[in-house]
Amino acid sequence: MSHHATRTLRELGYRLTPQRTLVWDALREAGGHLGAEEICALVQSRFPNVNISTVYRTLELLVELQLVRETLLGPDRRYYEIEEDEPHHHLVCDRCGAVQHVHDEDLGGLRAALEQRQGFRVRELTTFGLCAACNGQAEPNAGGGHAHS
Ligand SMILES: [Zn+2]
Ligand SMILES: [Zn+2]
Repeated sequence: MSHHATRTLRELGYRLTPQRTLVWDALREAGGHLGAEEICALVQSRFPNVNISTVYRTLELLVELQLVRETLLGPDRRYYEIEEDEPHHHLVCDRCGAVQHVHDEDLGGLRAALEQRQGFRVRELTTFGLCAACNGQAEPNAGGGHAHS
């Protein structure tokens, strides 16, 4: 993925500044859903001199290039993550804020039904509810999701 990003940025004629690489690395290493402030904190923990507005501009650019996906997971939760090749959808826990991924096959016939009956083509679904840990069906979610404090 990082090679893919490097190539795409170069092909599109952008200079691959160290700041852009830092933002990309922070997202990739965290491996989940991060808010812009969290990304800034990660970048600045290593490189205190990086300008915050540079981080925001870089995020915008990476989203524009479809290397990073921006998802609204609630009114005040704008999250960033590395774009995957496979489309995915989000389950967001109302109580603990955990975010889980589900893929097209998990939707069963929903995608086809929405397209046939409503003429609606699904890009991405975000579903709110209670995660397995919060509704008492499982041990607290150890990995995968990213709980927002
Ligand atoms: Zn939960
Ligand atoms: Zn996601």
